[in-house]
Amino acid sequence: MNPLVPPAIPIIEARGLTRHYGDLVAVDRIDFIVARGEVFGFLGPNGAGKSTTVRMLTGYIPATAGTITVAGYNLLSHPGAARRHLGVVPEEANVYADLTVRQNIMLMAELHGVSKEERTQRGKELVEMFGLAERLKQKGRQLSKGLRQRLMLCMALVSDPDMLFLDEPTSGLDVASSRLIREVITRMNQTQGMTVFLTTHNIEEADELCHRVAIINKGRIAAIDTPRALRATLQSRRSVEVRFAQGALPPESMLNFGMGTETVKFAQGFRIFGAAPGLIAQELANRATAQGLHIEHLSTLEPSLEEVFIHITSRGVAQTAEEIHV
Ligand code: ATP
Repeated sequence: MNPLVPPAIPIIEARGLTRHYGDLVAVDRIDFIVARGEVFGFLGPNGAGKSTTVRMLTGYIPATAGTITVAGYNLLSHPGAARRHLGVVPEEANVYADLTVRQNIMLMAELHGVSKEERTQRGKELVEMFGLAERLKQKGRQLSKGLRQRLMLCMALVSDPDMLFLDEPTSGLDVASSRLIREVITRMNQTQGMTVFLTTHNIEEADELCHRVAIINKGRIAAIDTPRALRATLQSRRSVEVRFAQGALPPESMLNFGMGTETVKFAQGFRIFGAAPGLIAQELANRATAQGLHIEHLSTLEPSLEEVFIHITSRGVAQTAEEIHV
């Protein structure tokens, strides 16, 4: 995904947002802003507080403390005006089993007060976009999980919301449905400027789709930044991979020289970790040349978002991206 246009006009503002279930603090004084037009990812392990946050943001459950503003409206004092801007796709596909694809979409549009003309036109566009045009007369119960999820998206989008909430949109889906859903999310964001709030366990999905990602752990936000900046916080997990045509430099010689902090050996080469992969690569090339060794492959590698995630969530809570320089 391309780097984010810097957050400009907030569509969601959460301040001190907190939710208790009895003695359990599921969400603990979190603050964040989602800007209009961005795809914002909410990433965290099981039980981190993602769904609870989404339920509060969409007005399904009240917050124990804190404030939520949606498109300038306080969700508590102006719930109707605030929620009009939102479209919600829950994690569990719960379309009406006895209604057809078409009836499900039209019913949702009616509930949102979409005019007949508009809902017919928009419904038609959506079923085409989501590959459901041939299935208009099929009942909800006849659809596979992937098709039900596509229908849920049509139902959430038929009211043309400014912002779409997706809770684990591709979890457990077949590859074709997952890909289609990701493509449509990106297209709606890029062509219509739709803001998307996405919860996911899937780091690659967050990396691919999101302009910014909040990492939540134990009810607190551990970091919020672009996927790229989050990866950059793990400077020491940068690395260089080298493979020699024949013979090889001993990796220890690089470590002894203060280049890198750790190596992983493999046949005809090694991967060496260090904060300055460019310098390491240069030094490797110089040494290989001096010793008459031929390098077959040399590349610098950035840490994956998965490594960042494990690192941040295993270090506890209440850190910001700025604090996580290692
Ligand atoms: P997952 O990825 O597994 O869906 P999550 O990040 O969405 O997890 P939440 O579902 O928000 O996490 O749960 C946060 C914490 O609140 C967990 O400890 C969970 O057990 C607890 N919790 C969630 N809903 C309730 C509820 N209705 N009553 C009591 N505790 C709850």
